[in-house]
Amino acid sequence: MAKISKDIVRYRSLRLAGYVIGFMLFYAPFDGFARFIDLFITPTQLYSIHEPCFRIPLHDLLLGNMGEAGPVSLIAFGLLLVVSLFFGPLFCGKLCPAGALPEYLSRLVPDRFKIDWPKHIPATPIRYGFFAGFLLAGVVGISEHCSYCNFYVFDLFVQTVTTGHLPVYSISLILTFLVWFFIMGIFTQGGRGFCNFLCPVGACSNLVHVLGVHIPWTWRLRVGQPSCVHCGRCTKVCPMSCLTLTDHALKLDRHRCILCQECQHTCPAKAISYGRGEVK
Ligand code: SF4
Ligand code: SF4
Repeated sequence: MAKISKDIVRYRSLRLAGYVIGFMLFYAPFDGFARFIDLFITPTQLYSIHEPCFRIPLHDLLLGNMGEAGPVSLIAFGLLLVVSLFFGPLFCGKLCPAGALPEYLSRLVPDRFKIDWPKHIPATPIRYGFFAGFLLAGVVGISEHCSYCNFYVFDLFVQTVTTGHLPVYSISLILTFLVWFFIMGIFTQGGRGFCNFLCPVGACSNLVHVLGVHIPWTWRLRVGQPSCVHCGRCTKVCPMSCLTLTDHALKLDRHRCILCQECQHTCPAKAISYGRGEVK
């Protein structure tokens, strides 16, 4: 068995701590983010996962009507865009517990039961196609913020586990749960099928990040450095399956990378780094 270095253990512990913090920021009973913002505005005291929603501002932005999203939601969404532009999709790779839970649990499922969806289906066009569909649905008057929301489904899942009571699930939420947790979750290689194909927040975050890397001093993952020995370890640990190793090069699909940095901390040649601009 390959020896796991102290650096990886420390990094993975910190990453796990990030998701715990993310849970405490966005989920009941903590709702830390909304409570903190409410210190500076008129508190609603109706804390729930809907208050810091990233999806409602996305819809409202397209419709030119920022009426539905509350201030907590708008601040959360604004932060997501700013951080994605200058630092990359760190929310996905460091904070979002709804993306992390299936990723971690998928490690308990033997590989022979898991499908590597991006290997068989072109993930990036489908991801953005779904994102476009999500936005267009709002334009034609279909409001589906919550109906296939993995954040909301995760919230209901937590409520079920912690209270022992089964909340009311609509058919669409049951389907979302099955897809998010099982089909595109623990039975998917890397556990992040939902993130790869169906999450509009992740797609928006990556789109902004891809625009951001055109600014020379923004932060990004830097692969393909000369010290790379083409061992392929990074491609095996990538939960988004967005690294490809060919005979001549290691390629990164920035449209799907969530900046979890698993690849960076697994690379024995230190050929992957996170920093400002490209490596000279
Ligand atoms: S390329 Fe690296 S940082 Fe990006 S998702 Fe894959 S493992 Fe994470
Ligand atoms: S783990 Fe490092 S050395 Fe191995 S292929 Fe990836 S970047 Fe290259």
